[in-house]
Amino acid sequence: MKKTKLKLKKEVWITLIIIIFLLIGLKVGLSINKNIQYKKTDEYHLLKAGYTLEEINFLEKNLSQDVFKTLLNSEKNEFLLSLLHEKYYLSKNLNSYLEEEKLHPNYTPTKIVSLINTHRNNAYYDYDIEADPTKNELILVNKYYHLDDNFEPQDLTSISRDYYYGENHQINKIVYTAFKKMWEEAKNDDIYLIINASYRDYESQKKTYDSYKDKKGTTYADNVAARPGYSEHQTGLALDIFSKENISTNTYKDSETHIWLQNNAYKFGFIERYPEDKEDITGFAAEPWHWRYVGIEAATYIYNNDITFDEYYAYFVEK
Ligand SMILES: [Zn+2]
Repeated sequence: MKKTKLKLKKEVWITLIIIIFLLIGLKVGLSINKNIQYKKTDEYHLLKAGYTLEEINFLEKNLSQDVFKTLLNSEKNEFLLSLLHEKYYLSKNLNSYLEEEKLHPNYTPTKIVSLINTHRNNAYYDYDIEADPTKNELILVNKYYHLDDNFEPQDLTSISRDYYYGENHQINKIVYTAFKKMWEEAKNDDIYLIINASYRDYESQKKTYDSYKDKKGTTYADNVAARPGYSEHQTGLALDIFSKENISTNTYKDSETHIWLQNNAYKFGFIERYPEDKEDITGFAAEPWHWRYVGIEAATYIYNNDITFDEYYAYFVEK
């Protein structure tokens, strides 16, 4: 009896030990398998490339699956991370940003986003898009966005003789109301605004451009005038504003009037369309007298954030 009991006990022990070994084996096996599986995951690859967990989450959230997968077999891309943090980053432009960076590795991500959003990687007039009149006062017209030959703005109204010199002038009704308010406000500060360019139709823009072109060729004409269809004056939303005391394009920039407009015009919906330090984005040499109506909301944003209307349009209006 005792012997059988002992034998049984021994068998139980052996079975138990086998079970324990089996369990340990299973656990080790599972954990090896888990490790292999993990090594196959995106996270493992990206951590190995040098990204932090936070960056990986950020990339996953901001990139399409296809682009995200391309990161798995390459080195850490610091430029891409900075790009995604750019205020005006547009995902549809990602490939163009990356291509531009290859061409200009010394450019900052901010500059690359600005240039690509505003199509500046294309030659002027090469990338040709029809301007969208349904955007009303936010319509974009520049060296890439053109107006139709027979585009005529709605709600044109004649400007009173009090506000201009030269020949008759017309402008969009809303713009005229805003201008008159601004005129009063400027007058309170002893500044007398004077308009010397307003609405210009396609034909008169064509005449101006062609006369330069006939005299000195296309390159010269492109430098000094917009091609017909590419001038903001055809929208009825742009005014060239000088002052009673100063109508000289040479000295206007530092005049009291210009400084007053720089500080106040946005409150009435106007922006300086071609500022001095933004020529690489607007495509136009500085024109401190050229003021464009975009409405108070857009003008205030553009003023506060120091961007061009071209950049504003790409990010807030067109996308
Ligand atoms: Zn102008």
